[in-house]
Amino acid sequence: MTELVGGHRGTVAQRTADAGVAPVWVVPLSDVHAGQELQEAVLAAVRSGWWSAGPRVAEFERAFADLCRTRHAIAVANGTAALHLALLAVGCGPGDEVVIPSLNFVAGANAIGHIGASAVFCDICGDDDLTLDPRDVEAAISPATKAIVVMHYGGHPCRMDEILDIADRRGITVIEDAAHAPGATLAGRPCGAMGAIGCFSFFSNKNIPMGEGGMVVTDGDELERRMRLLRSHGMTTLSWERHKGHATTYDVLLQGFNFRMDDLRAAMGLAQLPRLRDANAARGRIVGSYRQALHGFRGIRMPFPPRIGTVPAHHLAVILLPPGTRRHEVRAVLAAAGIQSSVHYPPTHRFSWYQARGRRRPLPRTDAVSERLLTLPLYPHMDDAAVLAVIDAVTEAVR
Ligand SMILES: *Cc1c(COP(=O)(O)O)cnc(C)c1O
Repeated sequence: MTELVGGHRGTVAQRTADAGVAPVWVVPLSDVHAGQELQEAVLAAVRSGWWSAGPRVAEFERAFADLCRTRHAIAVANGTAALHLALLAVGCGPGDEVVIPSLNFVAGANAIGHIGASAVFCDICGDDDLTLDPRDVEAAISPATKAIVVMHYGGHPCRMDEILDIADRRGITVIEDAAHAPGATLAGRPCGAMGAIGCFSFFSNKNIPMGEGGMVVTDGDELERRMRLLRSHGMTTLSWERHKGHATTYDVLLQGFNFRMDDLRAAMGLAQLPRLRDANAARGRIVGSYRQALHGFRGIRMPFPPRIGTVPAHHLAVILLPPGTRRHEVRAVLAAAGIQSSVHYPPTHRFSWYQARGRRRPLPRTDAVSERLLTLPLYPHMDDAAVLAVIDAVTEAVR
């Protein structure tokens, strides 16, 4: 117990060394903050004696629905499970096509494959906006298209009005992959609440880190009912409800999954929700420093210039290296300075599995940025020295 309360206090490097994990970055790509409140919330959940889905999950769902201003929120095991449930709930299945940006984490395409549908990849808008291009979404639609899975890349709202308009005209459902975008808004509307269903992830490097975890949000009562059933084996009651004496038995209405979240994780989520707005703003200030120092420096570009009426969640700090830059050399300079970097993402359509599957379409703008993308460290409690160290290393590496 003293371990839990007293630990997780040192620097990132110290903690990483404690855990026996190599290598030790001076500035990691992302980092979690185990504050006192979070530690106490988890300890209280542990001491409560109810560890699986229970009252904390229910409370987290209510709080998350409030954040998104949706009627319903259903907590799940991870963001991939959220996408899986959403696709099934809107009736996607074998033979259907689902349009999705290739510049994306592979989870969306994998979930589409798992339900027997096929992913049709669309392009991004361009260098300044790495979200999916509405015109290319329209071009990708066929008579077999059942849904569009948009992705708010880096926590920047995609061009949702145009996409919703296209989907409306064609009778196609829009699912939002809002894994990067909790707390982001577009003209006052929360990301995740604009399409039929919004999907979130609470993986450790996301804006609300919980180890693993996810959420679906919706205003649709029937969608909610179906996703609650699918989440837990199609069963009509949860163990918690039976434990409380609210139910003694259950029926199985469909063949579901175990995609449940547990109360320990919900406690972590509840402890962090009140700080989300400040944490996202802190991310935004760091991105602002990067932009000021790096945008325009020797041909470096930083996508997503600030837009009036848009509040991003600033999940990622992404720059585009000058065309022709050898990215692995830049990354090696950063690594030598103890700075972790990444690439979000190797385009999905280029992976071996997806190269051999689905309808192939030209994705010139995705291909053009893919070799230039570089993700820099970003986390809310990143200090000025760390931000400066990153900027120094990038300006030294790009010549
Ligand atoms: C993280 C992520 C997911 C998957 O979430 P998990 O919780 O890791 O399953 C899906 N889509 C995007 C865009 C993500 O970044």
